[in-house]
Formats: sequence, structure tokens, C-alpha cells
Amino acid sequence: MKVLKFGGTSVANAENISKVISILEREAKKNKIAVVVSALGGTTDLLIEAGELATKKNNDYLKVFQHISKRHQEAVQQLIKGPKKRTVLRQIDGKLEALKQILQGVYLINEFSDKTRDKIVSFGELLSSYIISEALQQTVKKSALKDSREIIVTDSAHTNANVKSKETTTAISKFFKSNKDKIVVLPGFVSRDKEGNTTTLGRGGSDYTAALIAAAVKASVLEIWTDVSGMYTANPKLVKQAFSIAQISYQEAMELSHFGAKVLYPPTVQPALQKNIPIYIKNTFDPEAEGTLITKKSKSKNGPVKGISHIENIALLTLEGNGMIGVPGFSKRLFSALSRSKINVVLITQASSEHSICVGVYSNDAKMAKAVVDKEFAYEISLKKIKPLLVEAGLAVIAVVGDNMKSHQGISGRMFRSLGQNNVNVRAIAQGASERNISAVIAHKDIKKALVTLHNTFFEKQIKTLNLFIVGVGNVGAILLNQIKQQQAYLNENLLLNIKVVGISNSKKMIFNENGIDLTTWSEKIKKGKPRTHQTFFKVVKDFNLSNSIFIDVTANEDVAKTYRDYLKESISVIACNKIACSSKYSDYLELKELSRKYNASFLFETNVGAGLPVIYTLNNLINSGDKITSIQAVLSGSLNFIFNNFNEKTSFYDVVKQAQEEGYTEPDPRIDLSGVDVARKILILAREAGFKIDLKHITNDSFLPKDSLKAKSVADFYKTLKTYASHFEAIYASAKENDCQLKYVAEFNNGKAKVGLKEVNSTHPFYNLQGKDNIVLFYTTRYPEQPLIIKGAGAGAEVTASGLFADIITLGRN
Ligand code: ADP
Ligand code: ASP
Ligand code: MG
Repeated sequence: MKVLKFGGTSVANAENISKVISILEREAKKNKIAVVVSALGGTTDLLIEAGELATKKNNDYLKVFQHISKRHQEAVQQLIKGPKKRTVLRQIDGKLEALKQILQGVYLINEFSDKTRDKIVSFGELLSSYIISEALQQTVKKSALKDSREIIVTDSAHTNANVKSKETTTAISKFFKSNKDKIVVLPGFVSRDKEGNTTTLGRGGSDYTAALIAAAVKASVLEIWTDVSGMYTANPKLVKQAFSIAQISYQEAMELSHFGAKVLYPPTVQPALQKNIPIYIKNTFDPEAEGTLITKKSKSKNGPVKGISHIENIALLTLEGNGMIGVPGFSKRLFSALSRSKINVVLITQASSEHSICVGVYSNDAKMAKAVVDKEFAYEISLKKIKPLLVEAGLAVIAVVGDNMKSHQGISGRMFRSLGQNNVNVRAIAQGASERNISAVIAHKDIKKALVTLHNTFFEKQIKTLNLFIVGVGNVGAILLNQIKQQQAYLNENLLLNIKVVGISNSKKMIFNENGIDLTTWSEKIKKGKPRTHQTFFKVVKDFNLSNSIFIDVTANEDVAKTYRDYLKESISVIACNKIACSSKYSDYLELKELSRKYNASFLFETNVGAGLPVIYTLNNLINSGDKITSIQAVLSGSLNFIFNNFNEKTSFYDVVKQAQEEGYTEPDPRIDLSGVDVARKILILAREAGFKIDLKHITNDSFLPKDSLKAKSVADFYKTLKTYASHFEAIYASAKENDCQLKYVAEFNNGKAKVGLKEVNSTHPFYNLQGKDNIVLFYTTRYPEQPLIIKGAGAGAEVTASGLFADIITLGRN
């Protein structure tokens, strides 16, 4: 004999019930079966809501009642054919009328005791089992309905009754021995006490009903049919990458369900385990899917961790005080006080100093727990031996489970490292003596991030997902998005990196998509995006709370640079093309570096110097490996190089600058390039990265511009001065020509001092042949004293700048 249980979603409406019936028709050809059914999905909640409204004398309870009635009547209308329909409808109406009368009673006497609550909620399963059995009889003649209350006996602990095993087993086996039907349909969840009052087995208890029947009749298998294809590695509704576990042990299943895997009601496993009955978890909506098999053995291809589960709405209670040390009986008194008030303890930790005990309970028990514990220890509290119970709410428990964890080292290390790396603060830790689970208490807001992170660590170690938030989608930003689009598949395949752009913003609008923005249509979508400010953008990124989040600044905006610290403090890495942050006050630069260390978030800015050239990367490697920089000689301005390479007798200085701007080689405001400020910022950043404390004001800047150009109030005025002072620029050119020299705008750093300025370099100098918009950097170090380490190549342009940013993203992904 087999026992099948169908949950609320599986029987939520006529359409789903039809699916259940076809599964049963198929099964009935092979086996005798007992079918346990839940209430039509959501009915139990509605029944409780109706009862609660009625006690509050709120007439809306009638609306809820009407809604319940309508759902059941509709199911009958659609499922039952022919003249039988009227009979079934009449029966249903009779049951609904009885329910209505009880609700009216609650309304009148203003009382909703647990006993009444059980009576009311039992209607859910009683109605559903009746409808399903009637529908089934249309095709499977030898099928019948049996009221579980006649065979499941409990104590009188209403809403969560304890089963009397002996009486129950006897009653069940007696019934099935004499029963000759092919299929018996039974309501789950409901039972009775010795006095014959209706009791229930706790929320989700239909699974347990099925297990009790399976154990009593020694069924060949217990099948739990639900809305997912098995027990997953984590709740599939929260973790997209979760997958169904093919086989799992009773203990593992129990542990996962105890820690919140709702797919199986925790007490369900025990009866099956005792009789060694295999449990299958199957999907009503995908009957062919393999599902999960639960037996004595644990088999896994995925290593020692089998699954990750979590419980929401947890409060942490801490009992603390010097008076507890070495005094026996404190914990006993604490647990007795909680147990007397039926407060369920979810998790326990105790510091080895015995100076505090910490327990996790459900949030809705916290208030009561505080009252009873403070009362229990009133005397010690008055003597200040211990402190009043400390309650922290808004928490959750997350547990990593697996039978074989005890024989593997380093699991807790990996668990806490990955939580830590993603800024999930762990408030308390517990590990069962069986070492079958490690659990941690975390903030409620971090649940999803923690689940995804841990799932990634234990089940998807191959692929790492980076969540990008990109601000600034002008020239460079747009090219970066295009480069990412083209490389996504390659990076997934070759570097096991999943690069997902979750947020994009321009100066006015922003768009987000947690599953990744479509990189072919983003430019259309952003036009209809939400208005943005720096703060609203930051808030959305923060609220997403995704692991491996990266904020990418592709602007030249000072206000954006000011937000980096907010991101770093949330452990969100920052990649900046914008130079402002690194070249502002030394203390600001230092703060960002420190925040990056403290919050374990990277701060990368390779494109600040030499666009995509690996200048900072090389410098960092020199310093990290113990080398010392003695001097840096560099041409760092692609734009000035372009200008002086193209400026000659035939072209005016004005025209060359105009052309450079039009081709995108200068900053939006060309004064930043021509005044030397941009170059000064770059050498400043290199000097700082080389380990020197230096500010922009310490850099000597001998400008080649006439004073009036430097004083120009606007870009237009600035251009005018280039025309007015044409002869000034011609003279600079003529002098260089006469000396057989090239004009190069050179940045130098020697012995802690930096300067920038225009220089005439002769043909023996490495800068002499520098072409177009190329940059060059010479590092003289302790290890490269005479022949410098040279980096040379295109130092400006959108394509190379975007690829420099992309390189930073990849570096970060490989960390
Ligand atoms: P039923 O109504 O069939 O009893 P439940 O809602 O009680 O169904 O349980 C199924 C749900 O359990 C799934 O839809 C899923 O959201 C949730 N769940 C939580 N953790 C897990 C897990 N590890 N594996 C599968 N489902 C899980
Ligand atoms: N209907 C009950 C509940 O919703 C029992 C069950 O579905 O297992 O809790
Ligand atoms: Mg359930």
C-alpha cells in the first residue's frame, strides 16, 4: 500500500484537483492507496482570519466567509458532473452553514479559544477531502472518504496536539485491514482528543497525518506531492540557483525542515524513519520530475553540505551577568520558565565563560519570554547578579545541513568567510552536537543575500556572480556595456564569472533589474527610467543587498565621487574611472583606502592613469613585492600629446585643441587638460600609490598657457584666448623646432616631489618618438635603477578606457 499526500497548492482549485485525480487514477491501477489532502491552498489562513475578525466584532468576517464558500462551490461546479452535482453542493452548503454558525458564535461571545480555532480550521480539510473524494468517485468507483478524526487520537493541546501513538496506530491499522477500497481519501491536519473534540496537528500538519498512516499500515512508500520538484538545496522561491536534491537521509531532511524548509513538516519524518518507509517528495505540476527520495542513506554528488535552510522572525534572548558564573541550575531555570509557557527554543548558544546564555525563539514569543524569564530571575535581577533579559528582534536563523559535515574540515570556516565577505553580520552561532548542522543568527534583511552567498559557496563554487551598478553611460559607459555584452558568454565559460548589470544610471534617470538588464535594449529603457539622485541610486543598490555588488563610476562628477564611502561602508566595491576621489585631499584618499580594507570591499581605479594601460596595476605589484619607487617620468596626457603632436606651422593651436575635443581626447572641459591639472592629478595618484603622502598643492605646475587663458571664465572664453595668443603658441613651437626637440607635457616625480610642465625633449629621450595620443610611464625603482620599467601605449580614448574598467571588474571577480 502507498500513502500519497497532496498539499494546499496541489488542491487549490478545480484545475489543480483534476491534475491530482489523474495522478491517482494512474496509481490506483497498481496499488491500493491512501490519499491525504490539505485544505484548498490558503483556506486555513482565511479561516483563521475570519475567526479573528469575528472575535473583534468586525463584520468583515462575513466577507471572508463568503470568499471561502465561493471557492468551494466553484470547485464543485467544475469538478462534479451530472445529477450528483446538486447533492454535493447541498452537502457542501450544509458544512458551510455549520461553519458560519460557529463563526457567528465567536462573533457573539467575543472569544476565539484554541479549541474553537481547531474546530473552525478543520473545515478546510473536511471540505477539501469531501470534494476530492466525490470527484474521484466519478472515475474510480472503488474509492471512499474516511474522516481522519476517527483514527488519529491526540491529547487536548489544541492547535498543536500531540499524537497518542498506540491508539492511533491501532485505529489506523484496524480501519485499513477491513477496508476494501482501492483509494481512501482522508483529510490531513485534523484529529480528535479522547473526549471527541476536534484537534489539529500544527500548521503544515497534513504531511504528518500521511506519515502516521504510512507508518501504521507499513506502507511501501510515503509520497508528499507539492508545488516544487523535491527538497531543494535552498528554498527555490528565494534562491534561483537552488536545485532538487536527488537523495537525502531522514536526519538531513528533519534538520532542513526543522530549520525552515517548509516543504516537509518536521514531525513527518519520525514515523517514517521508525518503520524505515521511504519518503518521496514529488511535484503535482511536473509528475515526471525525479523529486527527492528520503531514506536512511545520504547520497550526494555535491559534497558534505546537503542544503541550506532558514527561519524568519527570530528573536535572540540573552541572559547575562557575573552572578551566573559557576552557579548550577541557571540554564535549567531559564529553559523551564520558557517551556512552562510553551515557548519553543529554536537555537541555543552559550559562551564558554558561562557568563551568558543566548537562545533564539520565534519573534511572537519574545514578549512573553521576557516576562516569564524576568519573573523567574526577579530576585537575582534585584541583586544585580544578572541583567534583565535582553531581547533583540528582527533576526533570522540560517542553517547549513549535511550528515557528512562532521568528517570534513573547514565547512564552518567557509560558511562564515562567505557571510563575512558579503557583510552579513553574524549575531550568534550554534552547532548541533551531531555536527549535522551549523546555524547562524543574522539580520532579517540579510536572509536572501546570505542564502544566495552560501548557496554559491557550497553548491555553485564554479560560477561567481558579479552584480554591477553603473553610473554614467556617456561615451565610455556605453562602450563598457557593449564590451560586457560581448564578453558575457566567454567569461562565464572561461573564467566562471557571471557578469550581471543590475543597475544603470545617467545623470537623470536610472533603471534596475535584479536578473540582469538586457544589454541590447538598455538605452531605450533608460529613457523611461525612474528619476535619480545620488542618494536614491545608493539606496536602491543598498536595498538590493546582493552579494558581490560593484558600484562603477564612469562620470567625471565630484558629487558621485563623494558617495564612494557610502558604498564601501556597505561592503560594496567601487571601481572608478573618475579621478576626483583619488586626487582630492590626501585624508579623503586615505579614508577610502581604509574603508576598503575595513569593509572588505575593493576600490579600484586603474583608468585614472593611462586609461586602459596597466600603470597602477604594475605600480601596485612593485610596491607589494617590496620594491621602492625612486623616480617616475611620464607623459600622461593623451590629449596634450595629441595636441603637441599635431601642432605645427600649418595648423593653429586653436584648431588642434578644437579637433582634440571633438574627437573625445580631452575632458569635457579642455581647460582641465591644458592647464596641466589633469596631469598633475595623475602623477599625484601615482605618487600616493607609491606610498607618498602628497597633495595637489605640493605639485609644481609650470603652465605654458598665457595668464589670460588660465583666468578664462568659460570654455568659450578660453578658446578665444587661444586665438588671441596664437603667436605665444607659435613661439613655443618655433623654439622646440630650432633645438631639434619635440614638445612633451611631462610629469615627474623625484624624491617625494612632483612637478608637471611642457618640455622640449631631444631625439635621445625615450619620449621623443611618442605618437598620437600615446602615454608613457618610466618607473625607476630600487630594482630598476638604470633601465626603467616602461609602460607605453594609447592613453586616451573611450574604447581603451572602457577596457581598463572592464579589467578592473575582472580583477575584482577573480579575487
Ligand atoms: P504544501 O502546500 O504542498 O504542503 P508547502 O507550501 O507547505 O506546500 O511547502 C512547499 C514550499 O516549501 C515550496 O513552495 C517552497 O516555497 C518552500 N520551501 C522552503 N524551503 C524549501 C526547500 N529547501 N526545498 C523545497 N521547497 C522549500
Ligand atoms: N491546511 C493546514 C495548513 O495550512 C495543514 C496543511 O496544509 O498541511 O497549515
Ligand atoms: Mg506543507
